[in-house]
Amino acid sequence: MIKFLDLHKINKTHEAELSRAANRVINSGWYLQGEELKTFESEYAKYIGVTQCIGVANGLDALRLILRAYIELGAMKEGDEIIVPANTYIASVLAITDNKLKPVLVEPDIYKYNIDPFLIEKSITGRTKGIMLVHLYGQNAMHPEIERLVSKYDLKLIEDSAQAHGCCYGEKRTGAIGHASGHSFYPGKNMGALGDAGAVTTHDEQLADIIRTLGNYGSRKKYVNDYQGLNSRLDEIQAAMLSVKLKKLDTENEQRRRIASYYLENIKHPEITLPKVEAYNSHVWHLFVIRHPNRDKLQKYLADNEVQTLIHYPIPPHKQMAYKEWNNLSFPITEKIHNEVLSLPISQVMSESEADSVVKLLNRLV
Ligand SMILES: *Cc1c(COP(=O)(O)O)cnc(C)c1O
Repeated sequence: MIKFLDLHKINKTHEAELSRAANRVINSGWYLQGEELKTFESEYAKYIGVTQCIGVANGLDALRLILRAYIELGAMKEGDEIIVPANTYIASVLAITDNKLKPVLVEPDIYKYNIDPFLIEKSITGRTKGIMLVHLYGQNAMHPEIERLVSKYDLKLIEDSAQAHGCCYGEKRTGAIGHASGHSFYPGKNMGALGDAGAVTTHDEQLADIIRTLGNYGSRKKYVNDYQGLNSRLDEIQAAMLSVKLKKLDTENEQRRRIASYYLENIKHPEITLPKVEAYNSHVWHLFVIRHPNRDKLQKYLADNEVQTLIHYPIPPHKQMAYKEWNNLSFPITEKIHNEVLSLPISQVMSESEADSVVKLLNRLV
């Protein structure tokens, strides 16, 4: 059986180092807001190429806290609009509505699955305050047109980098190109913790200070509360796991790229649409997503032949019950994507011979 993602195998590869790091934390007697967190924050900031990194509890909180901090700073207020791709994972949208801001959904590019930069401008109104730029499936979503719009309309550019650790836009890393970026270290992401974890990266020192404060009960000084904050912290033990994982990230992304290249070069089937890639370093292949007009049949065929696949995602945000008020909206490109996409197995521990088995099955599909 070829698993979609073998988390056990992924973490087993680093077992000795992870155990040493966990033991260090157990024996330190210090479990929150300590040296492990400081070390990881500074290593990750350096890796991404920003001055500030704030560890938080998960990726959704990272995005929520960025917007909340802009509200505290007076840069946004209730009812202001944030542009977001219509086909994103729901977390990007939840972060917006949770802050009583208004998501404005924009269609993606049908081959790259990222927001279509040339459809953004006509959705900008006097209330538009930001763009939530999602690097979906691990591919950079930044584009010169978006740079132009951000500067022309003075927008905040917030990156959702949950699926794109290590990805680049030209010379820069994603996570360093916007005003602030949210990262998730959910176990299945390219760089996964052994539980929930997340971070915000930014060059903005003032924003970073507010996010750090908000995530710690709104408190800068113990028992003195400057904001109505929340509890969203990155535990010492997860920070220690992530410091181990960060050292492996580039090598592991290269392994993902090898599998992706193998798929791209060898899958040849008239009914299968392969993903379009901008540049070698602009994709870290969190997911390898193909399209087929009869996706469910294809998924069953692969399952019958011992290949696990998943669908990212079966229902777009505007068709969810959680957003009933949008259920009658129509986003044909997004809906086509949700009906046709299928994610093939890909990871840092997948072998080329496994990829070859998947390719052979796909090419034999009738
Ligand atoms: C995983 C993910 C998130 C949320 O991260 P969590 O750590 O699970 O809260 C946000 N956005 C995208 C695009 C994601 O894939």
